Amino acid sequence: MISEQIREDLELVKKTLRAAEVYEHAWHIVNFDRETICPPGAVEEKGELAAFLEGKVFEIRKSADFTAAFHRLYDALESGADFPEGPDRDMVKLWHLQITREEKITPQMAEEYARLSGRAFADWLRAKEEAKYPLFADSLEKMIKESSRMAALRGPEGADPYDIMLDEHERGMSCADLDEIFGVCTERLVPLLRKVTASKKKIRTDFLSRPVPLHAQQEMSYYLLGLIGFDLSHGALSTAEHPFTDGISRRDVRLTTHYYPDCFSSNMFSVMHEGGHALFEQNQPRESHDYFLTLGKTGGQHESVSRFYENVIGRSKAFTDLIYPKTKELFGEAMADVSAREFYEGMNVAGPTLIRTEADELTYTLHVIIRYEIEKQMIAGRIGTAQIPEVWNSLYEKYLGIRPANDREGVLQDVHWTDGFGYFPSYALGNIYNAMYYNRMKQDLDTDALIRSGNLAPIGSWMTAHVYAKADVLAPREWIRDITGRELTPEDFLNYLEEKYGELYEL
Ligand SMILES: [Zn+2]
Repeated sequence: MISEQIREDLELVKKTLRAAEVYEHAWHIVNFDRETICPPGAVEEKGELAAFLEGKVFEIRKSADFTAAFHRLYDALESGADFPEGPDRDMVKLWHLQITREEKITPQMAEEYARLSGRAFADWLRAKEEAKYPLFADSLEKMIKESSRMAALRGPEGADPYDIMLDEHERGMSCADLDEIFGVCTERLVPLLRKVTASKKKIRTDFLSRPVPLHAQQEMSYYLLGLIGFDLSHGALSTAEHPFTDGISRRDVRLTTHYYPDCFSSNMFSVMHEGGHALFEQNQPRESHDYFLTLGKTGGQHESVSRFYENVIGRSKAFTDLIYPKTKELFGEAMADVSAREFYEGMNVAGPTLIRTEADELTYTLHVIIRYEIEKQMIAGRIGTAQIPEVWNSLYEKYLGIRPANDREGVLQDVHWTDGFGYFPSYALGNIYNAMYYNRMKQDLDTDALIRSGNLAPIGSWMTAHVYAKADVLAPREWIRDITGRELTPEDFLNYLEEKYGELYEL
């Protein structure tokens, strides 16, 4: 018999979460507006509106009745009391974790942290502009200290602060796990990159910077979104300085891209990447919305899907062959003397570069590992902030064989450290996850033939049934085991890269 108390508590928490959701919905719309078509003179005003709505969400979720009800529900669930089967259980576990994490963080602490982070952002901008790391060092030091202190309050007692940060971004992942996974990656990626760099094979890239008019690029965006199955009756495409995707609400998912007149591939891969994020958002199970579970998925799970569409599908020979005629039709002159093979090769050119966001599929993981190694050491206090640029530059030399000439193209390139630590590994884990589930998918589907015929729908359905279905309720390791029947390993990803670049660069 399910007790009256449990029924009442479940009723109360759902009612509260629904109320918070209304403000969240409004917040997403305001925020999307601010990042896209909002006129510059109104950005600040929209910022104030967004902050007001965010405050409302915070207020509702911090209410004493609500947290007390979740604690009672969690205790009942743990003690083995009669409890409704199904997603109610997932909801209680997920939100209980969320609530206990935030319990020791007072509004003053959160405010102080936001202030520090804002200051760090301003210092970082100035430091990056002038390529002078010392202008940022003081703020970074404070961010490390405050982030570590708050992580210790959020996590289990006695746990390592960096482990807590990692776990918050990628449930169940620790330094020990990542040391092992990333160790295997560097062991095979560094030699592979050396071979690629030494290869005599020359890849043609001249056509990549030829001008292509905006309208042709726009038409390409919608063509690509149509191919991958993005539902435009429940979604929209806009432009932004830095492309992103926003799952605004249950029936409204929006993505953005950026058009560069003389770099048409930038838009194409932004659309494929953000389109992947958007497909994930559009095809979540209905229970995820009904039971407020959508916050359960990790950055790595989300990135696995965006990178799956961008790289594994988007940069495959089958896919570039499929879209090649369309590029000839839309891009005219720019593609006139380019063969299908040259197009494929151009989309996959690889080599050491200094900027993470511009890195190719092969070197990207190394950029991430460098950031992970530095974060791990700085949070543990093994390196001081003064040493960070030198450590950064040495690691670039060690893994990529190149050294930044200044801090702007080195340690100051990413904005992330102005807001916290532990997010970078998710970017690399995404590639490792998708290589594993792609191998599993190929046992069920002839993906190459499907892509060549332009029919990606079965791939989309497979993703919905296997990849999206349990992402909110299973931590990444269990999720991968559930999809593939195997333990998490970087082997599939590394084999995939060795095979692909071996063929491309005739190694
Ligand atoms: Zn992404």
